[in-house]
Amino acid sequence: MQKGKINVQTENIFPIIKKFLYSDHEIFLRELISNAVDATQKLKTISSKGEFRGELGDLQIEVKLDKKAKTITVSDKGIGMTAEEVDRFINQIAFSSAEEWVSKYKSESETNPIIGHFGLGFYSSFMVASKVELHTRSYKKGSKGVLWSCEGTPEFSIEEKPKRSRGTDVVLHIADDSLEFLEEPRILELLKKYCKFLPVEIVFGTEKETKKEKDDKGEEKEVTVETPRIINNTKPAWTRKPAELKDEDYKAFYRELYPMSFEEPLFNIHLNVDYPFNLTGILYFPKVKQNFEVQRDKIQLYCNQVFVTDSVEGIVPDFLTLLHGVIDSPDIPLNVSRSFLQSDSSVKKISSHIAKKVADKLEEIFKGNREDYEKKWDDIKVFIEYGMISDDKFRERAKKFCLFKNTEGKYFTIDEYRDHIKSLQTDKDKKVVHIYSTNPEEQHSAVEAAKEKGYDVLVFDTPIDPHFVNMLESEQENVSFVRVDAEVADRLIKKEEEMPSKLSQEQKDKLKPMI
Ligand code: ADP
Repeated sequence: MQKGKINVQTENIFPIIKKFLYSDHEIFLRELISNAVDATQKLKTISSKGEFRGELGDLQIEVKLDKKAKTITVSDKGIGMTAEEVDRFINQIAFSSAEEWVSKYKSESETNPIIGHFGLGFYSSFMVASKVELHTRSYKKGSKGVLWSCEGTPEFSIEEKPKRSRGTDVVLHIADDSLEFLEEPRILELLKKYCKFLPVEIVFGTEKETKKEKDDKGEEKEVTVETPRIINNTKPAWTRKPAELKDEDYKAFYRELYPMSFEEPLFNIHLNVDYPFNLTGILYFPKVKQNFEVQRDKIQLYCNQVFVTDSVEGIVPDFLTLLHGVIDSPDIPLNVSRSFLQSDSSVKKISSHIAKKVADKLEEIFKGNREDYEKKWDDIKVFIEYGMISDDKFRERAKKFCLFKNTEGKYFTIDEYRDHIKSLQTDKDKKVVHIYSTNPEEQHSAVEAAKEKGYDVLVFDTPIDPHFVNMLESEQENVSFVRVDAEVADRLIKKEEEMPSKLSQEQKDKLKPMI
């Protein structure tokens, strides 16, 4: 056995790893499984290039719990490492990147958290483990098994230890303050959170399934079989080509993302960008509830199919955080703080690109099937109005497909409506007066009186509408908005100057004593 000391640059990072990140200890599992996925994908690539001629076999990654031994093991059948590689990758590269990470994190305040804590890597194991063993064997011909072991200090040991199969087992000896991670439901929860869409199958425990089988006499019998429990869907819808997917597939994926949701989404937008940055994803317009309460934090951010976070403010435009769905991009810098992210120019580009795509898609749906679009309008209007209020560029684009609804239930674009009312509803100052009701039932008599005069009345009855009306009024010249019950119908639209008194002073003087 060989003992060694990791070359510590500044200070001992182990206590810092353990203490500093107290709130997010769970990410260790994501980091280890990501490494296992990378090692597996690398082997596939090497094999497809013909540089590895052995059998790939099944490439599943397995997560095992041993409550008695107090260990969690993550095993892959990927490329593995030679002894020299363990020294280079684990003792040197992984350690110094963890060091760099810790020093960066330390300078960030608690109130300015780092997105998803991405990139701490292998050494995040020491957040939950008192000892970590890495047992590995490289895919390279003639490689021997290597066991690396470390007890949360800069000292490590490395020795030869036979290993039957190619790949790497990482064994975490769980520390006494982290025993929660030896509970099966806890690990299952974490796997479902972070690994649901990883590109390599992840197995955790087994699952019982009842099947019908015919016995010797040909009679059907129910038998229970135990099969490995696979945690993830390796080919989630957003990674597939839009042309391969039908509406039903998008809906099925929505249910996969939100198993607790009973509503179907109104429609979806499949994002697929490869220049000037990589980004894929599917955004859904959800059906809004009666009370117009919309939930944020329903969009999930992934990096190469690894879950990062579901709080995406700063990454997608504010009004789009009301949508649901998935965004996957390796180009969003994830090991940085939120405030850095919000000011990062490439993130800004990504953000405005997403807004543009959403606008393009809405315009396409509007032009392609106006009838269907009108049916959905009442549900999507809150998103579009909010977008028009909060985002100038989106407002310009949305003017083409933003609709007004009148009390008869007819829909018009902004321009169509102006043309529709301008002959009767232009006032003395040449402003086209838009009359609206905030509650057609309560304001029934005022609405009727206005109609009596031949006027048209719009419906603006949601909590966001007052802001929307303000925005429209300040945005457009020569239009104004008036609430249907603000004045009597005769005075809603001021057509001409008030009659000035035509009596002369002399006549007035004559009249005075009579009155
Ligand atoms: P990162 O994954 O970001 O490079 P890590 O600290 O997690 O950083 O890992 C450092 C390196 O150790 C990896 O780049 C890889 O070369 C090697 N490594 C880690 N885990 C494995 C594994 N399961 N199989 C093969 N190599 C691994």
